[in-house]
Amino acid sequence: ELKDNTLIVVFGASGDLAKKKTFPALFGLYRDGYLPEGVHIVGYARTKMDEVEFHKRATQYIKNPNNDETITAKIEEFKKLSTYVSGGYEDDESFQNLEKHLKEIEATYQAPEKHRLFYLALPPSVFIPVATHVKKNNYATSGVNRIIVEKPFGRDFDSSRELLSALKSSWSEDETFRIDHYLGKEMVKNILVLRFANIALGAAWDKNSISNVQITFKEPFGTEGRGGYFDEFGIIRDIMQNHLMQVLSVLTMERPVSFAAEDIRDEKVKVLRAISPVEAKDTLLGQYVGANGKPGYLDDDTVPHNSVCPTFAATTLHINNPRWEGVPFILKAGKGTWPLNEAKVEVRIQFKDVTQGIFKDISRDELVLRIQPSEAVYLKLNAKTPGLATKVLPTEMDLTYKRRFADIKIPEAYESLILDALKGDHSNFVRDDELDVAWKIFTPILHWIEGKNGPRPKPVTYPYGSRGPKELEAFIHKYGYRRTEQGYSWPVTNVA
Ligand code: NAP
Ligand code: NAP
Repeated sequence: ELKDNTLIVVFGASGDLAKKKTFPALFGLYRDGYLPEGVHIVGYARTKMDEVEFHKRATQYIKNPNNDETITAKIEEFKKLSTYVSGGYEDDESFQNLEKHLKEIEATYQAPEKHRLFYLALPPSVFIPVATHVKKNNYATSGVNRIIVEKPFGRDFDSSRELLSALKSSWSEDETFRIDHYLGKEMVKNILVLRFANIALGAAWDKNSISNVQITFKEPFGTEGRGGYFDEFGIIRDIMQNHLMQVLSVLTMERPVSFAAEDIRDEKVKVLRAISPVEAKDTLLGQYVGANGKPGYLDDDTVPHNSVCPTFAATTLHINNPRWEGVPFILKAGKGTWPLNEAKVEVRIQFKDVTQGIFKDISRDELVLRIQPSEAVYLKLNAKTPGLATKVLPTEMDLTYKRRFADIKIPEAYESLILDALKGDHSNFVRDDELDVAWKIFTPILHWIEGKNGPRPKPVTYPYGSRGPKELEAFIHKYGYRRTEQGYSWPVTNVA
């Protein structure tokens, strides 16, 4: 339930995430009437700027393509409830100065209960100092306090544990909301409904029907001058260990007892615990090279000239439980891999062959959940080609959101998650033990890639804008994936 008289404090308010995601999401919630009564937003960072400059930055990514007057008016209202305080991240004085400002705003609240939500849009190096200082200086004594933290949460099992316990010394699990923004994506939230509200799908959701599953992330651009940050992390930490694992866990967990946060998270942890750590033999690493007029990863000046950091990875996971034993889950993530202008994220569930005999060499059924761009669920299935002869053709049953839900606005992931945090709903946030198991699965392979126990493996290359390394095809084939053979094609003119 939403708590009136809530203060939202955004730390790192001068940064990239704040301007591109946090403030636009807060605005989206405000515009649609989802923020609590009496809400006030305070930006905080070291950068010195006046309110005009802060408002300009905070609203520059808010979309209003047609200069709609009501949106323009809403933006002006939004500015009125947003203020800015500049200060450091490591000294009490700065936080006491912030506290003075917060108290001034709260003095206008009538009700005795005053709540605070702290959003850390900051680099991880200052997570702990800020969390600790906030607890000491800015903790509301008469209401509910909540803190939102961003990724990256550690860089391996041990560092994540350290960060967890440092944060826990000032904030309880109940007060903590660890964001993985994939959990706010509409299609990811739909997975539980698709699975558990449909007998037809639920019945086929196991090793008896499914041959293999791919969860794919493709980004059409490279590091483009921001390689310094990326090179220290690599694609597995950036995308796979967090985002794709979240998708995997909702896709494979058992039915929760209820949709209550802890019931869902219990099941996610349970299935993650049944996954053994990724092995080098189940891994393919790649790095993009210049092509199509675009520079390669090593051409980025911010990247060390001999870097072997993977910008592409495919890894195969195995879930050791009765439902999934023997089904390979192939996670693929790559930068500079798609010749379009938007990132693609999809789940492709490939079913087993039908019994041979009357049908020979026909395509396998596939259920595709396209998470982005343009949400869609489609089931590729065989049908008789209309006509006098019996000829089987791969076709589809299709649920394209833009067509089926034409008048419904799909919320941004960050809107949905900030609203959940305001309501105190943890369902779509990462619990401590969940993070722990996810790191356990990936830490050995990350240490191998970093050369902790031998020479660093050298990734294979792939051209910028391609589908990934040429070795990928053999890799997914090895785990049983069979591409639709008889030439499936999508009647593009039907796309909404
Ligand atoms: P950022 O722009 O680099 O940093 C945010 C703000 O933190 C900066 O404006 C700066 O503000 C302060 N800051 C930067 N480096 C600092 C340092 N070394 N020590 C102390 N303060 C520093 O980062 P971001 O891209 O907004 O990301 C914030 C967090 O969200 C990170 O944990 C990131 O991994 C995560 N994240 C970002 C995105 C995204 O789209 N950008 C997406 C998902 C997750 P002042 O100098 O004014 O204090
Ligand atoms: P697809 O793009 O043909 O991909 C199917 C699988 O084949 C993927 O695993 C893909 O790997 C791989 N692949 C793609 N191109 C390849 C190539 N040249 N060589 C080897 N492997 C290749 O997807 P689809 O599901 O069969 O759909 C075909 C098209 O129809 C897509 O463009 C899809 O968006 C469209 N469609 C749209 C809707 C809708 O909008 N509702 C519904 C149905 C179909 P990677 O994942 O690594 O690329």
